[in-house]
Amino acid sequence: MSPASGTSNLDPQELAKFSELAHRWWDPQSEFKPLHEINPLRLDWIDRIVGLNGKRTLDVGCGGGILAEAMAKRGAQVKGIDLADKPLRVAQLHQLESAEAAPPLQLAYELISAEALAEREPGKFDAVTCMEMLEHVPDPASTVAACGKLVRAGGDVFFSTINRNLKAYMFAVIGAEYVLRLLPRGTHDYEKFIKPSELARFCRDAGLELRNVIGMTYNPLTKRYALGSDTDVNYLVHAQRPA
Ligand code: SAH
Repeated sequence: MSPASGTSNLDPQELAKFSELAHRWWDPQSEFKPLHEINPLRLDWIDRIVGLNGKRTLDVGCGGGILAEAMAKRGAQVKGIDLADKPLRVAQLHQLESAEAAPPLQLAYELISAEALAEREPGKFDAVTCMEMLEHVPDPASTVAACGKLVRAGGDVFFSTINRNLKAYMFAVIGAEYVLRLLPRGTHDYEKFIKPSELARFCRDAGLELRNVIGMTYNPLTKRYALGSDTDVNYLVHAQRPA
């Protein structure tokens, strides 16, 4: 267990990868362009389900804060956590730039693992989001379990990740990293992709009830992302802790 994080569920190489690129996090034309482009879609989807205004919301693996800050702008009280130091500092700097907002954003960041926070503040959050992060951790089931512990009874949990099959390999690795060059090579490791059935099992094991699984697709001709029924490559999951 790493003393700073309170968990062994981390891959130092993955964290280093995100720290190295952190200064470009808010550049919408950078390596993080896909996160900027999918953000309005996932934000609206979450907001429709949760009603973010006034809700205590936790963003696990928040990185530079693209989703965390957007949820705070919708009126949520947001905490963002990550184990990579530089992305968190970028998130805090960006928050200063957005500090002119009225009413001021309720947004705080901390370098702590989901597992350690779940020990400290179980059941504290109305909603927990954990997006594009599970495919970067050694033990995603442990992260899902922590999210299940962090949300209150009746609260909502959201995950997004990448499916594991030949099509996902062709689109998410070969297509995105080699052909379209949307992402740097080595961003994603096929072995760590997660099938919806596996994520559903992690949720059940965490005491969460699966509510919905939706797909997210990228059209290389229009260069647009859309939510829909095709979960073959990217997908999002909504689960709930029973009331
Ligand atoms: N969730 C954000 C960022 C996704 S990038 C978004 O969708 O906009 C993946 C993030 O997961 C990076 O910030 C990385 O540092 C973080 N991460 C990787 N392993 C982690 C771990 N074990 N605990 C917490 N965060 C982790």
